[in-house]
Amino acid sequence: MFLDAHNVESGRTLEADLCIIGSGAAGLTVARALAGTSLKVCLLESGGLDPDAKTQDLYDAELTGVPYFMPLRACRQRYFGGSTNCWTGWCRPLDPIDFEKRDGVPYSGWPFDREHLDPWYAQAQKVCGLNAYTYEAESWAGKDAQPLPMDPTRVVSGVFQVSAPARFGTIYRAEINAAANVEVLLHATVKELVTTPGGDRLDHLKVATLAGSTFYVKARATVLAAGGIENARLLLLSDRTHTSGLCNEHDLVGRYFMEHPHLYRFGTVFVTPPKNDRGAFYRLRPVGKQCSVIGTLIIAPEELRRRKLLNFTATLEPFTSHEVRAAAKEDEVYRDIVRSLPLPWQRARHGPPGYMVHLNSRFEQAPNPESRVTLVDKRDALGQRKARLHWALTDTDYRTATEAMQLLGREFGFTDTGRFRLDENHYRRETWTFAGGPHHMGTTRMHNDPKQGVVDRNCKSHALSNLYIAGSSVFPTGGSANPTLTIVAMALRLADHLEGTLA
Ligand SMILES: Cc1cc2nc3c(=O)[nH]c(=O)nc-3n(C[C@H](O)[C@H](O)[C@H](O)COP(=O)(O)OP(=O)(O)OC[C@H]3O[C@@H](n4cnc5c(N)ncnc54)[C@H](O)[C@@H]3O)c2cc1C
Repeated sequence: MFLDAHNVESGRTLEADLCIIGSGAAGLTVARALAGTSLKVCLLESGGLDPDAKTQDLYDAELTGVPYFMPLRACRQRYFGGSTNCWTGWCRPLDPIDFEKRDGVPYSGWPFDREHLDPWYAQAQKVCGLNAYTYEAESWAGKDAQPLPMDPTRVVSGVFQVSAPARFGTIYRAEINAAANVEVLLHATVKELVTTPGGDRLDHLKVATLAGSTFYVKARATVLAAGGIENARLLLLSDRTHTSGLCNEHDLVGRYFMEHPHLYRFGTVFVTPPKNDRGAFYRLRPVGKQCSVIGTLIIAPEELRRRKLLNFTATLEPFTSHEVRAAAKEDEVYRDIVRSLPLPWQRARHGPPGYMVHLNSRFEQAPNPESRVTLVDKRDALGQRKARLHWALTDTDYRTATEAMQLLGREFGFTDTGRFRLDENHYRRETWTFAGGPHHMGTTRMHNDPKQGVVDRNCKSHALSNLYIAGSSVFPTGGSANPTLTIVAMALRLADHLEGTLA
C-alpha cells in the first residue's frame, strides 16, 4: 500500500517489524521478496511516484579529486524505483576472481565466493528483466555471431545482457501496492538513525517531509538502502551519540569509494574480414522481448593474477557509415585499410558490416581509503549537511588500464583478429578523462573483521545488532561488471536472511 508521509501527523511514531530506507534496486527488491510474509514492512522513500526538483536537490553534493564526469545531483534518481528510473540495463555478474583476495590488490577479498552467490544471481536475472543465467560467449554464439578467436588464457570472450531496461518503480508498483504487509511511505526522508542509550542497537529513525513535518519509525530491524553515497552520508549524519557517525568506530564509513572508470573510444580495431560476419557477436542483438546481449572482451584471470592487475572489460562499438567515410577521407592509414577490404565492404552503403570498431572499456578501481565520502558544512533544504565525494585513483588503476589496453591491442595482432590502433589521447595517462557508471560502491564495505568492514557477511552492521545495509556500498571490491545485478542478488540473499531471522 502507498501512503503519503505528508498525511502522517507530526511527532507520531509508526511501528513495523522491518523498516527499509530507500526504494531503489536494493530496497525495493528486499521489500518485494518479503511481500506476503508475516513481517510488517515499512518502506520509506524520500521521493514520490514521479520526479520532482526539490526532492532531487537533496542529492546535491560537492566533488573533489579526479574530475567526476557528472554532478552527483544528476547521476542518481530520488523517487520510487530510485536510479533504476534512469539506468541503461547493462548486466553481468562479478567474475569468480573478483571475490578472491588477490596479491597486488590491497583490501581485496569478499567473505564468500561467486559460487555462494550463484543461486541469488539466477533469481536476480528475472528481477532485472534478463534472459538465462549464463554469460559465457559459447551460450550466445550462433552461425552468424561468433566470438573473436582470441587466446582464452589471455583474453576471454563473454557477454553483457542488457535489460529493456527494467524500471523497477514502474513494473513492480502494482505488486507492491497490493502487498498487504508492505506500507510504502512516499515523501519520507530519513534524517537520522537514532540508537538505544546503550548504543549497540537502533532504536528509531527520524523522518521528515519537505513540508516541515517530522515523525519517527521504530522497527525490530532496519535495512539502509539509500544508494552508495547516501548510505554513508546517513551514517555520518547520525552523530548524536557517536561523534564520528554510526558504525564508524574504525573510521571506515565513507572510505573506499569505488567507481568503474570508463575510457571511451581508447582505440580503433580494423577487424580482419572473417568468413562470416562475426561482428554480429559484439553488436547489441535481441535475445527475447525485453533483453539483448552484447559481446565483450575480458582480460583473462590468469593474466590478471600474473600481472597483478585489476579486472578490465572492453566492448566493441562498430563505426557508423558516416564515421567510416570520414575516416577514409581524412586519414591515410584508414584509407589504405578501407582500400584493402573486399569490394562489397568498401561500398557498403547501409552501414559497415562491423569491421571498423571503437574500443570502450570499463575497469575495476582498486579499493582505496583516500577515495571517500565525507560531509561538508553546506546544508540541504532539510538542514542536513551535504556530502562531498573525493574520487581518488591509485597507480594500480592507471597501470591496469595501460597494460590492459596494450594486452588487448597485441592480442588482436597475435591472433590475426584485427589491427589495433591506440587513440592518441590515450598514449599518456595525463590526458585520460574518465566517465563512470555512475556506479557508487564500497563506502560501507563488507568484511568479517569489524576493524576492516562496516558490515559482516550477512550485511549486518558490526556495531548495531539490528541494522543491515543493502546496495553496492557493501561491495569490498567492484570488479569490472556493472553493479545492479549483484545489488539485486545480494538484496535477495539479505531478504532470505531477514525472513529466517525475524519471522
Ligand atoms: C544514468 C545511469 C545509468 C546506469 N546504468 C546502469 C547499467 O547499465 N547497469 C547497472 O548495473 N547499473 C547502472 N546504473 C547504476 C544503477 O542505477 C544503480 O546501481 C542502482 O540503481 C543502485 O541501486 P540502489 O538501490 O543501491 O540505489 P538507488 O537505485 O539510487 O535507490 C536509492 C533510493 O533511496 C532513496 N533515498 C535516498 N536517500 C534517502 C533518505 N534519506 N530517505 C529515504 N529515501 C532515500 C532514493 O530516493 C532512491 O529511491 C546506472 C545509473 C545511472 C544514473
